[in-house]
Amino acid sequence: MKKIVIVGGGAGGIGTATRLGRKLGRKGKAHVTLIDCVESHVWKPLLHEVATGALDVGIDALSYRGHAAANGYHFQQGSLVDIDREQRQVVLAPILDDKGTELLPARRLDFDYLVVAVGSISNDFGIPGVKRRCLFLDNTEQAMVIRKLLLNRFLRYASHEQLEEKIKVAIVGAGATGTEMAAEMHHAVDQLRGYGYKIDTSLFDVTLIEADKRILPKVSQEAISQAVARELEKIGVQVLTNTRVVEVTDKGITFQGGYFIAADIVIWSAGIRGADFLKNIGGLETNHLNQLVVRPTGQTTRDDTIFAIGDCCACPQADGSWVPPRGQAARQLGHLVADNIMRMLRGLTPVRTYIYKDLGSLVNLSKFHTVGNLFSFLGGGVMVEGRIARFTYLSLYHRHLMELYGPGRGMLMILLKSLHRVIRPHLKLH
Ligand SMILES: Cc1cc2nc3c(=O)[nH]c(=O)nc-3n(C[C@H](O)[C@H](O)[C@H](O)COP(=O)(O)OP(=O)(O)OC[C@H]3O[C@@H](n4cnc5c(N)ncnc54)[C@H](O)[C@@H]3O)c2cc1C
Repeated sequence: MKKIVIVGGGAGGIGTATRLGRKLGRKGKAHVTLIDCVESHVWKPLLHEVATGALDVGIDALSYRGHAAANGYHFQQGSLVDIDREQRQVVLAPILDDKGTELLPARRLDFDYLVVAVGSISNDFGIPGVKRRCLFLDNTEQAMVIRKLLLNRFLRYASHEQLEEKIKVAIVGAGATGTEMAAEMHHAVDQLRGYGYKIDTSLFDVTLIEADKRILPKVSQEAISQAVARELEKIGVQVLTNTRVVEVTDKGITFQGGYFIAADIVIWSAGIRGADFLKNIGGLETNHLNQLVVRPTGQTTRDDTIFAIGDCCACPQADGSWVPPRGQAARQLGHLVADNIMRMLRGLTPVRTYIYKDLGSLVNLSKFHTVGNLFSFLGGGVMVEGRIARFTYLSLYHRHLMELYGPGRGMLMILLKSLHRVIRPHLKLH
């Protein structure tokens, strides 16, 4: 039986594994295995909510093992470190416990078809101090570090004595991640007052920093950037554009031109790149960002049976542009790759090519506002705000849940998560 291995169960990989598991694994037509370095899946676009405690991963995470058993694929925990193309094997690092004791030695797993879907990490652009001093939002563990750090800072404001000093947070990079994080933090501070913390937003300085001339520079409609900037300023977030960071130190951030701002906490969300281990992995072609270069079929340029999807790949489009690193792109290419593998198994070639369909970009400023554009693939798209935008924003996550759980269970899961939001405290405080 042919072996299909998918490495990385994020926004793209888990959908690919689910599709292949249901269509091939369940029917005994192929052996499908998903590998991930962690045990459970959290949808990455919600990481800023994990960081502020608005989302409780104890409730919202999906166990890979349980999901695999219900959907016809197998799950193995492990970290990809290399691909042995001669032996047709992936190489996984040893698994260690918290104290560094080896739980499982390094392993190798055979594959006939391989899909690499390991996502991305933050790009520090080699700027001095960023790696050492900044917090990142690349995975659940890092989001939890931010949450813990914020709660520890707020602890002082839970005492009876009213403290006067401000907490200064700087967020570098005003794409969707940084922008949503800024608003979510303000909302969290609002909520904390209700839980006995003697803090309000006047004691909390959030500065959002962007090198481009406007925030959300990748969103095609400038009106959206302006609407979001207005809303952020209304809730008290200071927005700095045309501002390039040259160094981050323990005291704060220095910008080009020598301007300096003090910051207690610096969150870095200024762009992405592939992890270092991807550079020329298995002799495959990678670009300057360590992304695996693929053809529009999802196949890597040097091996027809090795595919890459999502943030870890560079996929060209007919107009010469590259597919952007977005959840919707990872999901769409993941579906196409699953279908292409099924075609190849049936001996049907050529395989299909991928055309990125930009369904739009929505920015959710926590409870304050939601704004964005829809149907961008129709040319420019339609700008939406308020309830319609909020509903559509939520429906993206709901679609993801329906895909993972199927329509019936998916609906139940959406209902359950909505109920949890009503009956639980609005923030995870422990
Ligand atoms: C706060 C935030 C908000 C965002 N909002 C949006 C949005 O509104 N819309 C949108 O389209 N996009 C959004 N994005 C971007 C989107 O999350 C990513 O583009 C998308 O998750 C990429 O999917 P992926 O499958 O490539 O990688 P990921 O979803 O990151 O998944 C990668 C998986 O690989 C695993 N992995 C990593 N390394 C290894 C290894 N060595 N071995 C095994 N497993 C490994 C990880 O554990 C993870 O499960 C947002 C991102 C962030 C951080």
